[in-house]
Amino acid sequence: MLYLVATPIGNLSDISQRALDTLSNSDYILCEDTRHTVQLLSHFNLKKPLKSFHKFNETFKEETIIKDLHSGKIISLVSDAGTPGISDPGALLVKRCVDENITVISIPGPCAAIVALTCSGLDTDRFQFFGFLPKKKEELKRTLQEILRYPGTTICYESPFRLVDVLKEIEQLDASRQLVVARELTKKFEEIHRGSAEMQIKYWSTYTLKGEIVLLISAQTNQEEPDWNTLSPEEHVQFLETTYRLSRQDAIKMAAKIRGVPKRSIYNKLLNEE
Ligand code: SAM
Repeated sequence: MLYLVATPIGNLSDISQRALDTLSNSDYILCEDTRHTVQLLSHFNLKKPLKSFHKFNETFKEETIIKDLHSGKIISLVSDAGTPGISDPGALLVKRCVDENITVISIPGPCAAIVALTCSGLDTDRFQFFGFLPKKKEELKRTLQEILRYPGTTICYESPFRLVDVLKEIEQLDASRQLVVARELTKKFEEIHRGSAEMQIKYWSTYTLKGEIVLLISAQTNQEEPDWNTLSPEEHVQFLETTYRLSRQDAIKMAAKIRGVPKRSIYNKLLNEE
């Protein structure tokens, strides 16, 4: 049985009793950084064999783990902080377990994205999680354009060193958006700052920014139908997918209908661009 065990994102009191029980009942614990997890376990007087499992050895370790799980071992997976599999290793192993009919149980707990969303004051009925934004300028711009079309709140993880650059890009694209920057959540210097890109830039440029950050972007509310002629088929399909939450297949069908072209021609264009 594989357990995904969420651990604190800064405040050790946030660990659950169920998380501690699960860790102490495990044959071994997979963790990103054994030094980090040793500290967590020793704080709670737990001693368990640890095996390193991070993005660079995730695939390589898979076979042994699957063999152990098939033989009846109880294995827990933790990340350095928060929920495993959320911008952290875990998703590939879970997929493999599902394929192999191995039971996977998630022990819920802290996740920076959800902590930030719930205290943001932004729409929580509809939201998307984007993880880390791309680093390259052009790719960042394209991604933000897509994000800004989404009719719900967007949650991103961002490094403190890049935050102001990302805020400047958002200001260029849509200065009207409400943004929330949540820093050092659950820690001593927790700080949540709400306001437009302009206000955020002024605020966060004043000191050397450190710590961990979640950036939230408010929903697109005045969704105007764009002029289809100005969008490439790929952009058109993406717009329909995010705005109307269509599957790729349905978005292609709709784009073909609107543009008055056969579905096949849109498929071909997308294939050529991939
Ligand atoms: N799996 C983790 C989770 O469930 O939140 C996320 C891991 S990801 C590698 C680390 C990123 O999460 C950080 O760069 C930051 O964007 C965000 N993060 C983690 N802890 C945070 C905290 N205490 N306050 C604000 N953001 C945090």
